[in-house]
Amino acid sequence: MSTRLKLISTRAARPQAVLDIKGVSQIFRVAQTTCHALENVSFQAGTGELICILGPSGCGKSTLLKILSGFIAPSAGKVALNGLPVFRPGPDRCVVFQEDALFPWLTVAENIAFGLKGRGLGSQSARQETERFLSLVNLEAFADYLPREVSGGMKQRVALARVLILNPKVLLMDEPFAALDAQTREEMQNFLLALWKKLSHTILFVTHDVAEAVTLADRILVMGKNPGRIRHDIAVTLKRPRMRETDDFHHHCKRLYALLRTGDTGGMQSCQNPRMS
Ligand code: ADP
Ligand code: MG
Repeated sequence: MSTRLKLISTRAARPQAVLDIKGVSQIFRVAQTTCHALENVSFQAGTGELICILGPSGCGKSTLLKILSGFIAPSAGKVALNGLPVFRPGPDRCVVFQEDALFPWLTVAENIAFGLKGRGLGSQSARQETERFLSLVNLEAFADYLPREVSGGMKQRVALARVLILNPKVLLMDEPFAALDAQTREEMQNFLLALWKKLSHTILFVTHDVAEAVTLADRILVMGKNPGRIRHDIAVTLKRPRMRETDDFHHHCKRLYALLRTGDTGGMQSCQNPRMS
């Protein structure tokens, strides 16, 4: 077995679970057709873990995130956050989407501050919090700009600050950098890692991009489709910061491409999580 790329077992020591997903299935019925978007998906996310969910288009990644965020109820199975069932959206599980959903008529600072409304913070504390998060995403100089006046990468930084200010227990990200050009995308990945180091949130990050997953993740859940399932649960043991040009990085990517293509372990010893097969 490769020592660099390990498939981890359920018995491996993990940080305390914050999210617990058990036997989640999702069936969509449209007209005469039935789509098994997800089948028997189970995993736990430990506190402070950065997990990438990697899979081809249509394998149920967005559906899984919608279930975790509480936007849709699964056809079967359970989701619990810190032991409590998830039934509906809540500020403890915030989502950042590919297309920013900023309010176009509010400034950068007002967008970031928006979620604080109704939280009982005095105006001075709200201003201080907004300034803190403006500074965290390096946008102090753009506080009074409108979303249409800033770049795509900046908009996604506003989108991040806007949810992080709510201090979510879990940050759910659905291909948040997919619409950005390659260079901005890499900058945003580094930026997210720096923020994660500072704030230590638990992050579930959906992507169909192998290099993005290897850059970011502690752990990669590899999904397959028809039906949408988690096929492998992989620990990424590369040291951080991860350099894309190194052999180790390429080695990880190659293995993951093999997993995605064939659904098997590409000759590695399989420690596939039996709960996830
Ligand atoms: P991914 O994000 O991995 O591309 P999705 O979760 O968006 O995949 O979709 C998984 C499958 O479920 C696809 O076949 C998609 O067409 C189907 N699907 C998703 N949402 C709905 C819906 N609201 N109604 C019917 N089918 C849906
Ligand atoms: Mg999707």
